[in-house]
Amino acid sequence: MTGDTATNRQILLDHLPQGRLDESSFRAQEVARPEPGPGQVLVRTRYLSIDAANRAWMQGATYRDALAGGDVMAGGSLSEVVTSNDAVTLNEAGLVPGDIVESDHGWQEWAAVPAKRLTKVDVRGELSHHMSVLGVTGLTAYVGLLQIGRPVAGETVLVSAAAGAVGNVVVQLARIAGCKVIGVAGSPEKCAWLVDELGCDAAVSYREPSFFKALKAVCPDGVDVYFDNTGGTILGAALSLMNLGGRIVCCGVVSQYDTSNPEPGPRGVPGLIVTKRLRVEGFIVMDGWDDHPERCTEATDALADGSLKAFEDVVEGLDAAPGALVDLRAGGNVGKRLVHVS
Ligand code: NAP
Repeated sequence: MTGDTATNRQILLDHLPQGRLDESSFRAQEVARPEPGPGQVLVRTRYLSIDAANRAWMQGATYRDALAGGDVMAGGSLSEVVTSNDAVTLNEAGLVPGDIVESDHGWQEWAAVPAKRLTKVDVRGELSHHMSVLGVTGLTAYVGLLQIGRPVAGETVLVSAAAGAVGNVVVQLARIAGCKVIGVAGSPEKCAWLVDELGCDAAVSYREPSFFKALKAVCPDGVDVYFDNTGGTILGAALSLMNLGGRIVCCGVVSQYDTSNPEPGPRGVPGLIVTKRLRVEGFIVMDGWDDHPERCTEATDALADGSLKAFEDVVEGLDAAPGALVDLRAGGNVGKRLVHVS
């Protein structure tokens, strides 16, 4: 954080990574603070969201345009409205200085953003919660698990990247739904956290040599809902354990993001999908955007009564963002990783 309000510090994606992402793919630069043009609002970044998908956007077009070398690194933020070029713009957007908005202007301290691309946040409690349980992360878990997975009490729900941002909320929602919950994560420490802190019935590390055997042992009744954050070998194992009529919620493929050569899908597709009558369905969080206010209220109530907890992993300062993303890929986070910018 420069603290200098005339300067805008930015983190650029210097070049697209070949193979594994490291911090050398990024560089910082300082430019003049932008002046808002017609219809634009000047915002100051408070928190940046560090997401597994940040790396996927470097692989090519996804649900958004691919990133290119020289771009300001893309990413969502919670930002504060500072001013506009005219009062009409703020009025039409229903904003006043000091309001908090969701903005997609990337890794920089300041941005002049068209008012119509800002979403006002009705701040409830801690601001950072609007990036974890009350924000896009929480909505992803709600939409994916409840609308697509449709768990029923007593069923077994398996969750990969279970200690991560989306995963930990899915685990908590599955518990609230009365399900048996099995988590998969990348270390014995995370597995212990999943059981002791998050309330998973069991957790298995996908790095164990006998991963499939260990997973099968903790799913004696098979799996009814698999919430797939990873793809790869964990998806392959889950397919073998699915019960008849099971649901696979395809949320993301984090095991295949940090490479220029993603692996093909697992064996057993489509054979196991056919014989087990599985429903395998992908989604993007925006599919559930209209329900966001209602989900936010549900999550706020659940936070208040203690049935839901916000697990956040906050890193300090804009310059720490590249390292925070590289480390996320390596599994360094527990819960939602954020960068506190100002
Ligand atoms: P996150 O889970 O907080 O962080 C990513 C985690 O992935 C890491 O902590 C790491 O934990 C795990 N991981 C890394 N490499 C792995 C590998 N090779 N195999 C298995 N696990 C690996 O990140 P997130 O932002 O919440 O994203 C989770 C998933 O949700 C991603 O696939 C993302 O694309 C998806 N997502 C989808 C939507 C949507 O709209 N569909 C929206 C948001 C997020 P370990 O220590 O356990 O390895």
